[in-house]
Amino acid sequence: MASPPLPKVELRELGNTGLKLSCVGFGASPLGNVFGPVSDDEAIGSVREAFRRGINFFDTSPYYGGTLSEKVLGKSLKALGVPRSEYIVATKCGRYADGFDFSADRVTKSIDESLERLQLDYVDILQCHDIEFGSLDQIVNETIPALKTLKEAGKIRFIGITGLPLGIFTYVLDRIPAGTVDVILSYCHFGINDSTLEDLLPYLKSKGVGIISASPLAMGLLTECGPPEWHPASAELKAACRAAAVYCKERGKNISKLALQYSLSNKDISSVLVGMNSVIQVEENVTAAVELATIGKDEKTLAEVEAILKPVKNQTWPSGIQQS
Ligand code: NAD
Repeated sequence: MASPPLPKVELRELGNTGLKLSCVGFGASPLGNVFGPVSDDEAIGSVREAFRRGINFFDTSPYYGGTLSEKVLGKSLKALGVPRSEYIVATKCGRYADGFDFSADRVTKSIDESLERLQLDYVDILQCHDIEFGSLDQIVNETIPALKTLKEAGKIRFIGITGLPLGIFTYVLDRIPAGTVDVILSYCHFGINDSTLEDLLPYLKSKGVGIISASPLAMGLLTECGPPEWHPASAELKAACRAAAVYCKERGKNISKLALQYSLSNKDISSVLVGMNSVIQVEENVTAAVELATIGKDEKTLAEVEAILKPVKNQTWPSGIQQS
């Protein structure tokens, strides 16, 4: 007898793009070894399992692992052996291992290099990566127009911007014609410890941009293993998150599951990007999404964890250069 079909994660519309993204997106920065070493076999297996469970959205950048993430993701997608139209790929430009360069020349070269590493003819979304480290006026006047040219050339389908401080999104979106930027990617601002993106959602929707929220586990803060060495959070925030993780573990609960379900709960967010580097993590994250859709989240434990994190709620860290 045939086994029943595997439960898959739901798809959500991305702004006005017409794209339907899996609500759990595959964050490929771990494939650049930024959270520890990942073998090619593990990477290929994780991408295969993700796709099998309905994850159709994959996000990378030339910055992750100094181009390694793009190369490994490209190899893993190719190994799927499915038509290109069945998965959605986002990469970035302007941030590299050797620094930032949002000039039209650099981002125009950058996409060709990315396409080669990814073994693709086009990417679905090209995002200016962490724009708070550049001049926002250059992003508006030079970088985005260069990306429009790439769109016309068919190398990219949609244009995005990413970064940490939420003010960068309003700054740029207020200075460009509607429909120029299709997508924003915010990170570490829609999770249990920091939910400040919520206040910006009505504005973003009014601008018609698709909304992607990354790092629901706060780049490792909301995991049992804890964050990597380079994590920029304060000692106070790290300690509070560690206390919350221990609290969950002692009660047989998983802080990462709770955190991902929290981030997935707001359907104005089209996709929640989680960094994944093992088949087990893919399985756990898909299960968390499927359980949220079928039985809902563990409100009691969530309230207890929110109480532990209350003293550090919405605490963030500095990112970028001071804009003049
Ligand atoms: P995250 O919050 O998704 O955490 C990733 C960490 O959690 C990794 O160590 C991963 O191995 C671990 N993890 C994943 N699932 C787990 C599970 N079920 N149990 C325990 N641990 C688990 O942070 P992230 O990877 O930084 O963010 C996700 C993705 O979003 C990135 O890979 C990247 O694609 C994107 N992103 C983009 C930007 C930007 O554009 N500026 C910034 C941050 C993230």
